[in-house]
Amino acid sequence: MGRREVDLIIAHAAELVTTAGRSIRPASGSQQADILVIPDGAIAIHRGVIVQIGTSGQILSQHRSKHVIDAGRKTALPGLVDPHTHLVFAGSRDREFEMKLSGKSYMEILAAGGGILSTVAETRKMGKRWLLKICQERARSSLLHGTTTMEVKSGYGLSTEEEIKCLQLARSLDKSGPFHVVPTFLGAHAIPEEYEGRADEYVDLVIEDMIPTVVKSKLARFCDVFCERGVFTVEQTRRILETAQQMGLGAKIHADEFADTGGALLAAKIGAVSADHLLFSSDEGIREMASRGVVGVLLPAAPLTLMMGKYANGRKMIQYGVPVALGTDLSPSCMLESQQMSIALACYCMRMTPAEAIVAATINAAHAIGEASRIGSLEPGKRADIVIVDAPNHRFLGYKFGVNLVETVIKDGKVVVQDQRLIG
Ligand SMILES: [Zn+2]
Repeated sequence: MGRREVDLIIAHAAELVTTAGRSIRPASGSQQADILVIPDGAIAIHRGVIVQIGTSGQILSQHRSKHVIDAGRKTALPGLVDPHTHLVFAGSRDREFEMKLSGKSYMEILAAGGGILSTVAETRKMGKRWLLKICQERARSSLLHGTTTMEVKSGYGLSTEEEIKCLQLARSLDKSGPFHVVPTFLGAHAIPEEYEGRADEYVDLVIEDMIPTVVKSKLARFCDVFCERGVFTVEQTRRILETAQQMGLGAKIHADEFADTGGALLAAKIGAVSADHLLFSSDEGIREMASRGVVGVLLPAAPLTLMMGKYANGRKMIQYGVPVALGTDLSPSCMLESQQMSIALACYCMRMTPAEAIVAATINAAHAIGEASRIGSLEPGKRADIVIVDAPNHRFLGYKFGVNLVETVIKDGKVVVQDQRLIG
């Protein structure tokens, strides 16, 4: 029998990390560490899709290709998935950095008209073309660090027109590629200045005007709310998310980041796809999330950059059976584009193992954004989104940090990063 001709073969990965077998349900409990490594692994790819995985011996005896990448005894794994970014924003908050260092809290900076509201003003001012350029640079940087799919939230527009502008931008980003963008509507990110003291009226605007407009123009897959003391209450969050769900959007919640307001519990009650942050979630909330299969998206760079000296209890969530995912929380207050760093922080600050963190940044992250049937693992039928890292085994992701270990990125079967440079 002749060998089957395919577009691309990757062979001789010292470890081929597959994270396979979890496309229907996310990995939880002890499964969180199941990365399913194939030693001396190889992948056959055709028309952007994985045809077969196996040992190099198996794959090379059954397939041939004009294009064979020798992974050179390095580690190959699924393209990283970042399930939580606020990538669409103008300006920066470098000046607030020193306020934070002097001990001002996030909420104090917000109350002083800084934080989110200063970014809202800058984002509203900036035209679409410039904003797209800035966002493309950020997304390319993420791609260079191994992120092939990222969730992108709106939330710095805070009016119907400006939120639409941000979501259109997320769509343009996706079209410009080669990364894939999953858009989330976060109109309830903060209460804009013009609605100060009238939070319920702003919630009405989100429900009656923004969500129908977003849904009609098919600009978002998910709706998210910043449910937090001093921002949106659990009741307001519920109203917004139930409306969004009725109109076909998946629900996400920024939950219990600064206090236990019952965000995790609400996520479980309404069947949210994910609840994110979770630093102060109650045991009851975590247990309910586990029983409803709500993905816990942990964002260790957020408390790091806020200098909170505390992290979400990833170990407890895994123990209770919450499927844990990891994201960057890329935003003006958390300028992190690299999911490799999220993995390292998960290990060093939350005591997750590298294997658990890799599952969290690939297949479970894909579940957190409704993409697990297409991406997040290396198995036949999935999109060929693959990264090759300069590491003899998967533990180096996490263990070695502060440098970019990703050498090669393959998106939809095409090499888009080679020797740490974008090509094409
Ligand atoms: Zn966030």
